[in-house]
Amino acid sequence: MLQDSFGRVHNYLRISLTDHCNLRCHYCMPDEHYPFLPQKSLMSADEILLLAKTFVGLGINKIRLTGGEPLVRKDFDEILFRLSQLDVELLLTTNGVLIDKHIDQLKKAGLHTINISLDSLQEKTFERITQRNEFQKTWSNIMLLLKNNFRVKLNIVAIHGHIEEELIDFINLTKNLPIHVRFIEFMPFDGNEWKSEKVITSQEMLALAAKDFDLVKLVDEPHATTKKYKAIGHDGTIAFITTMSNQFCGDCNRIRLTAEGKIKNCLFGKEEIDLLTPLRKGEDITQFILQSVQNKHSVMGGQLEKDYKQTDAKNIINRSMIGIGG
Ligand code: SAM
Ligand code: SF4
Repeated sequence: MLQDSFGRVHNYLRISLTDHCNLRCHYCMPDEHYPFLPQKSLMSADEILLLAKTFVGLGINKIRLTGGEPLVRKDFDEILFRLSQLDVELLLTTNGVLIDKHIDQLKKAGLHTINISLDSLQEKTFERITQRNEFQKTWSNIMLLLKNNFRVKLNIVAIHGHIEEELIDFINLTKNLPIHVRFIEFMPFDGNEWKSEKVITSQEMLALAAKDFDLVKLVDEPHATTKKYKAIGHDGTIAFITTMSNQFCGDCNRIRLTAEGKIKNCLFGKEEIDLLTPLRKGEDITQFILQSVQNKHSVMGGQLEKDYKQTDAKNIINRSMIGIGG
């Protein structure tokens, strides 16, 4: 069992398949000249399987594939299929641009829920945020997933001064579509020019939403990072990920594996342990996994303040989000 020194049991692994991406979201991959990992540094499909099996043997029963953009990997379908043979719930976070190329394999692997990042419903704003002209493709792929009965969650990074314009439109989407819209409070990572003034809290967004909708609170799942609501009469739901304004570390069950095979025990932690090098040498990696979990800090990787307004991004040592795997 992957229990840390605070008694938290970890059963949820997020695997980054690559740090490469077909979009360039400024809050995630801030530099157009980001030094992508060379191919040989990335975990191969076989290595991902070996590592995943070791984690499953230690109690992991939920795996999310992420990145970078996981669907840009040429061997994505193979990795997906092989992981689907393990005794785990398999999930995916993607920007959605390539979904149509993989929809049959996603069905075959038994995925039921897919998280898609979509920060704007306006083509021009989408292009400004992602620096790519892929709005129509993303939108038609969201519709394709719904048509194929996938449960679709939309991830929106809420940035103060931007989200106010579209918050109501996003909630309106849930009226006739069974879609789950999740507003994520803007988090600090390397190079993303985070400032506390750019954070809009869930409470602030709720107050804005309450002007136009009658919202009811829904029951949140155990270990959920979201606070869920529903506008009365709507098919879908809305939710807030309150990482900055209301930390949920006490209940954390998540660990991460970067695309080059380093275990990270917290999204905000600077500590990483290389698993891929010992794996390639044929060494037992269990001890390194246990060590990483044991070393986990009680809150926010030991780096962020409890009151986010006191956090100074300059003092945080971490990667860009694209290099971690969100
Ligand atoms: N490429 C995929 C995607 O965009 O969904 C998966 C990787 S992306 C890093 C995973 C999630 O992290 C996305 O939902 C993205 O919006 C979120 N994210 C990235 N940077 C963030 C930030 N600074 N604050 C909050 N969420 C962030
Ligand atoms: Fe790529 Fe996802 Fe990061 Fe956007 S959020 S740059 S789509 S990895």
